[in-house]
Amino acid sequence: MGRAFVYVILGGGVAAGYAALEFAKRGVSPGELCIISEEPVAPYERPALSKGYLLPEVPARLPSFHTCVGANEERLTPKWYKEHGIELVLGTRVKSADVKRKTLLTATGETISYKILIIATGARALRLEEFGVTGSDAENVCYLRDLADANRLVDVMQSCTGGNAVVIGGGYIGMECAASLVINKINVTMVFPEAQFMARLFTPKIASFYEQYYVSKGVKFVKGTVLSSFEIDSNKKVTAVILRDGSRLPADMVVVGIGIRPNTTLFEGQLTLEKGGIKANGRLQASYESVYAVGDVATFPVKLIRENRRLEHVDSARKSARHAVAAIMDPEKTGEFDYLPFFYSRVFALSWQFYGDNVGEVIHFGDFTGGKFGAYWVHKGHLVGSFLEGGTKEEYETIANATRLQPVIDDLAMLETQGLGFALAV
Ligand code: FAD
Repeated sequence: MGRAFVYVILGGGVAAGYAALEFAKRGVSPGELCIISEEPVAPYERPALSKGYLLPEVPARLPSFHTCVGANEERLTPKWYKEHGIELVLGTRVKSADVKRKTLLTATGETISYKILIIATGARALRLEEFGVTGSDAENVCYLRDLADANRLVDVMQSCTGGNAVVIGGGYIGMECAASLVINKINVTMVFPEAQFMARLFTPKIASFYEQYYVSKGVKFVKGTVLSSFEIDSNKKVTAVILRDGSRLPADMVVVGIGIRPNTTLFEGQLTLEKGGIKANGRLQASYESVYAVGDVATFPVKLIRENRRLEHVDSARKSARHAVAAIMDPEKTGEFDYLPFFYSRVFALSWQFYGDNVGEVIHFGDFTGGKFGAYWVHKGHLVGSFLEGGTKEEYETIANATRLQPVIDDLAMLETQGLGFALAV
């Protein structure tokens, strides 16, 4: 039993949606392309799950955030795929892959063959069990990676109004979920091992601004420690969280955001891996020529940084997917992917964007008391990274353009004085 396609996209997340859009724009015939996804719905903009999806009033619901609305492109509803002759094989997990034979075997026992495979399997949330803590399966412990997780989180949250939530992790998921919980009138304590929010990206000064903002919204912090166990009642509900420093936090619910792991298992031993992801070249092609890798699962050369990187951000998923399809459909006219890393987040009324790389010396600028502020990173005499909170669309474009150009910086004091004006003048 089996089906054959010219192109198969494995995974039905953000990258899959943008790849499908690019295929459609370049012209695929009905029946040539299929997307296989474990999720039961067509590709959607995953970042919505920790933002609009969790709002108490008029929450975002599908079909409103199917890809590719996040980039102001067409909205790819199931009807769109049908009209374009693109097969959606949903609710179907691929359990093994054979890159030499060019086949995928699904959990339902079907063999799907391809001429070209795009791996877009993304990543999964790390679980507490991987750090030696048991209890993740308790009724009121939530993770957040997909729609099913988000629905569960909404249900648990709605049953906890006025109660206490413990958020484990001070990264993107922790920060965004904590904000959403507060908006849903839940008392939040955040626990993380680092000394500050978003330790991999934020400087202490930037982190301190957001932390103070969270404190003003009633959020409490327990830093420098991790969870050691749960107290669980006879209904399989967590009632308290015990920390390694010995403290005990009563909890009506727990949200865990402690990082992700790329979904590479199907290809281990068949394709070259690097930095935890599937190694791809500047055309997003993996070590086997009929296979491409895009999005969170791919490690690809970031020309600007002169390094191979695996990025866990939506813009990278969107653009790497489109570039891979361009390289497949029009190899002559498609050069190497030349990507400017871009990360963003929105919490409460705040919103920031970051471009480039956060290495070297940091120069802060602007009003850190609640206005517009930012930072530049200067490495080996060049501007390599920029951060801005509270900017306008034009200002974000300006810092992105300046960062891409990597101008020479010979006077750090001048850069500090000019602040955002420096990027405007580049
Ligand atoms: P995914 O979107 O994760 O899609 C992977 C797909 O592959 C899934 O559908 C999965 O079910 C499927 N799959 C995996 N294995 C199999 C298999 N064996 N068989 C079948 N299907 C399989 N990034 C930002 O830059 N800004 C943000 O504000 C932001 N917010 C986020 C909020 C949340 C809650 C989450 C979870 C992520 C957020 N991100 C954000 C990150 C961003 O969503 C990811 O970078 C992006 O989704 C990656 O796209 P992808 O297609 O590579 O992977």
